[in-house]
Amino acid sequence: MLRLDQDIKYMKGVGPARAELMAQQMGVRTVGDLLTCYPYRYVDRSHFHRICDLNDPVEHVQLRGEILSFEEEGAGGKRRLVAHFTDGTGVLDLVWFSGHKYISSTHNCNQPYVVYGKPQRYGSRWSIIHPELEPPTQQTEALWQADRQRWERAQQTSTLFGDCDPEAAAPSTGGTEGLWRPVYPTSEVMKKRGLSSPAIAKLTATLIAELAPIPETLPAWLLASLSLPSRDEALRAIHRPSSALQLRLSRTRLKFEELFFIQLQLLRYKQGRRQGTPGMPFTRIGEAFNTFFHRHLPFALTDAQKRVVREIRADVGSGRQMNRLLQGDVGCGKTLVALMAALMAVDNGAQACIMAPTEILAEQHLQTLRSLLGDMPVRVELLTGHVLGRTREQILTDLQSGAVHILIGTHALIEDGVRFARLGLAVIDEQHRFGVAQRAKLWRKSDIPPHVLVMTATPIPRTLAMTLYGDLDVSVIDELPPGRKPVRTFHQFDRQRPAVVNHLRRQIEQGRQAYIVYPIIEESEKLDMKNLEDGYEQVCKEFPQWAVSKVHGRMKPAEKEAQMQRFVKGETQIMVATTVIEVGVNVPNATTMVIENAERFGLSQLHQLRGRVGRGADQSYCVLVTRTDLSPDTRKRIQVMVDTTDGFEIAEQDLQLRGPGDLAGTQQSGMAIDLKIANLAKDGILLQQARTLAQRLIDADPDANDPANAPAWRRLAQLGETTEDWRDIS
Ligand code: ADP
Ligand code: MG
Repeated sequence: MLRLDQDIKYMKGVGPARAELMAQQMGVRTVGDLLTCYPYRYVDRSHFHRICDLNDPVEHVQLRGEILSFEEEGAGGKRRLVAHFTDGTGVLDLVWFSGHKYISSTHNCNQPYVVYGKPQRYGSRWSIIHPELEPPTQQTEALWQADRQRWERAQQTSTLFGDCDPEAAAPSTGGTEGLWRPVYPTSEVMKKRGLSSPAIAKLTATLIAELAPIPETLPAWLLASLSLPSRDEALRAIHRPSSALQLRLSRTRLKFEELFFIQLQLLRYKQGRRQGTPGMPFTRIGEAFNTFFHRHLPFALTDAQKRVVREIRADVGSGRQMNRLLQGDVGCGKTLVALMAALMAVDNGAQACIMAPTEILAEQHLQTLRSLLGDMPVRVELLTGHVLGRTREQILTDLQSGAVHILIGTHALIEDGVRFARLGLAVIDEQHRFGVAQRAKLWRKSDIPPHVLVMTATPIPRTLAMTLYGDLDVSVIDELPPGRKPVRTFHQFDRQRPAVVNHLRRQIEQGRQAYIVYPIIEESEKLDMKNLEDGYEQVCKEFPQWAVSKVHGRMKPAEKEAQMQRFVKGETQIMVATTVIEVGVNVPNATTMVIENAERFGLSQLHQLRGRVGRGADQSYCVLVTRTDLSPDTRKRIQVMVDTTDGFEIAEQDLQLRGPGDLAGTQQSGMAIDLKIANLAKDGILLQQARTLAQRLIDADPDANDPANAPAWRRLAQLGETTEDWRDIS
């Protein structure tokens, strides 16, 4: 009997050499690891398809019919053998590029065959390259008869798979053994060294046959309420399903479990912090806040801003540590909320810091805050890697004495030499650029952990937020300040450039400014992309009467700053830049954003860039310039930008289009969530269920001592040992 924690090398068919390969290539070290290497798809031989039903896009299909004739087509190295194949509902081509003689001599026309493969369409004709081609067996004939009866009953043709009820009863004869074959992910190296998908399938077959019963991790009441199979059944069935229904339930069970324990961990942590971590109580709303609110606030707060300020106020006054995520679209006014939270700290004799991801943004925050505060006796300072010498020393000294009230900065803030007198609030702006470790370091800057307000640059999809920030309380600003006109977005191809130039000219003649953004700095030979240097030259030529700023990430900070300032002051009309201007830059007079090679950018990046305009009272424009030959996904992306300015909607679309693995905010942050089977783009409902039930478990059994829940608590403890880093995320 095999046990889950056993070293894989002792399993039959493995041995030391293979074990090493498996560790290297698959991350499999124990029997349990192999068990959770799930197939990524299944060969479904339980049903037949009909040629007349083929429709794009098509996965693998199983057909039954006859070969009409063989033909050799093409010449030289491209010679191929083609068999015209019919199932009575249509004709398709079976194609081989090698083994012609053998195939044509061992197969006959006008005899039944079962064909399996992935159809492709060329023009109006379907073909399958290198199909599996076998004579029917008793089992396949029984399956085929069953399908035929169903087709006859259904009468009208429908789309592929539409008529294959996956939960249809198993055929009466022949059994279901081997009709669902797992396909495992492999690599070239693995295949070369004998670890192909069938080889892995053989190993998992052995594993399942010899594995001791797998312990349950979910409480019985929970399983029953969801009607899900046991862990033992699910883990075996996912490798060897006996029906589509069993497979679906097993996958659901394993997805649920995966999401459930992440939520349980996050919610437990939240619970622990609620009970255990004292916060600095900000009991007073005092002079700084009131003076600012009544005399300095340049405009009325939006209702959403008011609500969030109240939520923060309740948190920081509660005596517990605040851990709050503030989500809001670009331009919704998060900075103001951050300042008001900082003033709550100041009124209670504490300091605040605001961390920004770039120097430009930090400097901009400094200016914004200083001008908002005016002559109020609240001292705001800036600390970045470029604040050096005497200035730096002075700031550090004054920080430690408490003379500096609000410190704004970049990563430099978390260096060991930076000491606060009494840090009461840490605001992290555009949070996704900070890694987990960096944030953890910040918490340690104070005996009592500071209140934490995390602000996202762009909205993130709900499922992702729930998973990445599931232990934080969430505030949402879902309202833009009044009077904003939504940015109008246009898509133009490269060859429509004269129209773009005309548009820019008209805007600038009206006294407005414009950004032109390029994906790269210098020419690269391989990629046919516009680059910043060429673009700069072209723009200077096109608009000789106007001054142009140029900003990119490889410039010296002082130079970059000088160029930015010229644009901010209106000395230049056009700013040519790379994505360094992506976050936070605020020039209300800029009304046009031209994005060159827009096809190179992801949705959230495009949204961020577009957010640089539309900040003043004038109608603003965003022009997405692309090549003509766009892939369907890129087209969709551009269309989403043209159709909507709603950041939450864009975030959802981004998740659907790219899948969760790639999303900004997971990879940069080092918080990439390694889900083995659940998919945040598709399993939103299951995730919500997992969260609700995890909360229910905690509420019902807050001290984790009800024996009925022991399996879950045991599992949680076990997971905690391997995923320490979740602990540091908040
Ligand atoms: P973001 O949420 O993207 O960080 P900012 O805080 O930079 O947005 O705010 C964007 C702009 O909106 C700023 O120019 C700011 O002064 C302005 N603003 C913020 N709140 C309001 C409000 N309630 N009414 C009018 N303008 C506001
Ligand atoms: Mg901002």
